[in-house]
Amino acid sequence: RGGAERAALIPNVLSIAGSDPSGGAGIQADLKTFAALECHGMAAITALTVQNTQGVRAIHVPPADFVGAEIDALFADSTIAAVKIGMLAEASIAKAVAASLARHAPPHIILDPVLAATSGDSLSGPALAEALVTHLFPLATLVTPNLSEAAHLTGLPFSAAKDSMGVTAEALMACGARAVLLKGGHLEGDLAEDLLYTASYQERFSARRVETRNTHGTGCTLASAIAAFLAHGHDLRSAVAAAKAYLTRALESADRLDVGQGHGPVHH
Ligand code: PLP
Repeated sequence: RGGAERAALIPNVLSIAGSDPSGGAGIQADLKTFAALECHGMAAITALTVQNTQGVRAIHVPPADFVGAEIDALFADSTIAAVKIGMLAEASIAKAVAASLARHAPPHIILDPVLAATSGDSLSGPALAEALVTHLFPLATLVTPNLSEAAHLTGLPFSAAKDSMGVTAEALMACGARAVLLKGGHLEGDLAEDLLYTASYQERFSARRVETRNTHGTGCTLASAIAAFLAHGHDLRSAVAAAKAYLTRALESADRLDVGQGHGPVHH
């Protein structure tokens, strides 16, 4: 390329997640986030959903060893800088994903413990929450539950009180998480406040609450953006701050989209 400066290499980032055909959440949101943040996105699909912006109508899950094989084929061929895990649907899939990732040991694993969709429809079998804790918490760099997922994972009662976020995050650490980003987006008030809790520091991140109906895929987008910034070399604290800024921008321009009658997607 003559004397021109060589551009930096584009990192590979892998999403292990379910498909949302409406393009709002799941691997579709993850791949858009990776592209917007200058990463090459890869996707190992854990489940097909039948859904639109109004809800989830059906879920089809492939055999667990097929999902493990999807992941193994990618690691056999490429260097992967960061992994984002989303919907795993069933405990057997969580176990297969954990076994595969334990073999390949990527530098960063962001675990979004998806149990239900924005519409409230369940995306998980009965034993999934326990399998996430047992098999994936020990491998994950960061776990990113919202308040209701945190209640399921810890067995603590659901609390929407800002004061109890520290106790909830501590309980997730006691379950074996290495770091927790507890998302308070469903708390009342004008701010969306999240708590980053690690063994060595705690930090609160707040952003102005954006009023829009188009909130489908916000959890997927945040976790994917964190993975993308880690892949670019940010440390955890700065990856979370930059990812939250990216999500706020995506929410602010979400009303430019006209997708469906329910919760539409954010704009990447
Ligand atoms: N993954 C899939 C495949 C989904 O369909 C959904 C929600 O519908 C999610 C993850 C979680 O979505 P959100 O990012 O809105 O929490």
